[in-house]
Amino acid sequence: MLPEAVLEQAKAEMLDWRGSGMSVMEMSHRGKEFVSIAERAEADLRELLDIPANYKVLFLQGGASSQFAMVPMNLLRGKAKADYLNTGQWSKKAISEAKKFCQVNVVASSEAVNFTTVPARDTWKCDPEAAYLHYTPNETINGVEMHRIPEVGVPLAADFSSTLLSRPLDVSQFGVIYAGAQKNIGPAGLTIVIVREDLLGQTVTGTPTMYDYAVQAKDGSMYNTPPTYAWYIAGLVFQWLKAQGGLAGMAARNQAKAELLYKAIDESGFYKNPVDPAYRSWMNVPFTLPDEALDKPFLAEARSVGLLTLAGHRSVGGMRASLYNAVPLDGVKALADFMADFQKRRG
Ligand SMILES: *Cc1c(COP(=O)(O)O)cnc(C)c1O
Repeated sequence: MLPEAVLEQAKAEMLDWRGSGMSVMEMSHRGKEFVSIAERAEADLRELLDIPANYKVLFLQGGASSQFAMVPMNLLRGKAKADYLNTGQWSKKAISEAKKFCQVNVVASSEAVNFTTVPARDTWKCDPEAAYLHYTPNETINGVEMHRIPEVGVPLAADFSSTLLSRPLDVSQFGVIYAGAQKNIGPAGLTIVIVREDLLGQTVTGTPTMYDYAVQAKDGSMYNTPPTYAWYIAGLVFQWLKAQGGLAGMAARNQAKAELLYKAIDESGFYKNPVDPAYRSWMNVPFTLPDEALDKPFLAEARSVGLLTLAGHRSVGGMRASLYNAVPLDGVKALADFMADFQKRRG
């Protein structure tokens, strides 16, 4: 979901961006109009996340899935090993891609308990020779979120695809942060990378030019044509976030939304969320009904009252409510009310 105000603004500016006579889609990415849009977006993102000056912000393509390869290519820096924490479906994908480039040491895994929790930090078996440690702060499919940044002795690489901008973040704790924009930022096609400068410039041999953070940083993410329209919409979302009180404002709203829905689930005696309460995601809330036969009618009735995209991921089944930034508290209330009503009729 994108904020309606952002879509309205995009609509108003669609044919003629601020008297330029062009749609943003028609602009040269090197023209002064688009360059001003790009610079404003980066400045607003830096302000929202309070990004330190020694970090580069990249606006790339290829999705978070490309970062599964770009992270090892850029961060190994001559080393042969990397640490990975396995907390869910996206961790596993990052791990299998990294294995093409290095020896992967899985420091801990919650797979044996169906990814319903996160292994305690003091059980992790870190390799002292690892170039970095990769983890997934919010496992979108499993609904598992780490609410604290782990302390490790090597640069942290983190896949923030489904939780970046949902609350304030201490960027200085990370080597690299990346996120596909389409979950909580803007349209598909844009990938945000925030990387510490001193880690750049030591890619593995054979790294394609497009996959080299240093090249992208030097060229302002314009080594080739960047995803201009997605970059523009993300910029409008950044302005909208600033108007909502920034990330502190979003955190308060997102916490309230999540608490409301978990309470509705836990107190129902009908719906269930399997995740350890200490690691329940603010963004993605999976839940099941007591009988799978109820899934179809639940989804159909939800759709008929305007509650959309509630089906769980094909790999886990059940339901999943995604409570990204643009989802209002009233939307979550409407969902909780619908769930109670459905239970009364079908429970
Ligand atoms: C959706 C998602 C991905 C994959 O993103 P793409 O941009 O489609 O490659 C990776 N990691 C997480 C945590 C996700 O939620």
